[in-house]
Amino acid sequence: ESDPTLRPAPLPEDADRALRPQGLDEFIGQAEARANLRIFVESARQRGEAMDHTLFYGPPGLGKTTLAQIMARELGVGFRMTSGPVLAKAGDLAAILTNLEANDVLFIDEIHRLNPVVEEVLYPAMEDFELDLVIGEGPAARTVRIELQPFTLVGATTRLGLLTTPLRDRFGIPTRLQFYTVEELNLIVSRNSGKLGIPVEEAGAREIARRARGTPRIAGRLLRRVVDFAVVEGDGRITRDLADNALTRLGVDHLGLDGADRRYLRLIAEHYGGGPVGIETLGAALSESRDALEEVIEPFLLQQGLIQRTPRGRMLAAGGWSHLGLAAPKAPGQ
Ligand code: ADP
Repeated sequence: ESDPTLRPAPLPEDADRALRPQGLDEFIGQAEARANLRIFVESARQRGEAMDHTLFYGPPGLGKTTLAQIMARELGVGFRMTSGPVLAKAGDLAAILTNLEANDVLFIDEIHRLNPVVEEVLYPAMEDFELDLVIGEGPAARTVRIELQPFTLVGATTRLGLLTTPLRDRFGIPTRLQFYTVEELNLIVSRNSGKLGIPVEEAGAREIARRARGTPRIAGRLLRRVVDFAVVEGDGRITRDLADNALTRLGVDHLGLDGADRRYLRLIAEHYGGGPVGIETLGAALSESRDALEEVIEPFLLQQGLIQRTPRGRMLAAGGWSHLGLAAPKAPGQ
């Protein structure tokens, strides 16, 4: 690919790619999303049409990119991939759109970060498979309309709330991805270690799954680190004790929280009496961007009932106090 606006495809020997599930049947978890997608894919195939535009939203690492690739494979069409921030100019997107073949899947990651000028180009493209391009400048400028092949836009975002309403409304199939259960992650870890030829005991796989923050990407990363410990300090086998030891040394606690998560919780507990405290204040104190807190750190803490989001700011929930081993302060008057 010479087009700089398209991310280079990962190398075939990339372990990550080898581990990606290839079809809907192989994809573990997200049962509801999967069942619906199966219907929509089958219907589009039978009608010989492009599938409706699909939006995947949810925290990073839950399988948005993977599902988009699976959709293209199951539809039997081509797959192109780019992302919001790299599409700087309208022409960048136009170049990609005009190169699509009939019914292709175009995947745009981080679609909430599209430049508004580029987003404008997307509206008629999504709606009528048309491009309106302005050629030239000043009095000589004119608009040309270009017909596009029908295509399926698959957008992915970690922040549904940051999408503009007109863009959001143009997705016929909005799909929320959920955190995975320990059972599902256990299956993913076992299957991946099988593919990598790593001997893992059931209890070892479960230990990694329990501490993967509900996220397949994290499960994959932890598995690779635990393998390192198994190779260097063990006999290559992943037992429960070995996994527990390795994860503890990596700073991953029994709930799966890492140092950044615990700093966040302790800050609210120790400096703000449990909150409420504003997100900007937390970001400044932790030297983290607000986006990083909202996209990466908070969703799992919320899901686990460790924190609460209130109109006045973030608060430590009962689970947060007990996870830190601290007693929650009594509310006034109690
Ligand atoms: P996202 O696009 O949501 O950030 P990805 O699709 O890139 O997430 O997935 C992150 C990693 O997790 C990839 O290595 C992928 O292979 C793996 N993964 C995601 N979902 C699953 C799943 N359901 N089963 C197995 N592996 C998965």
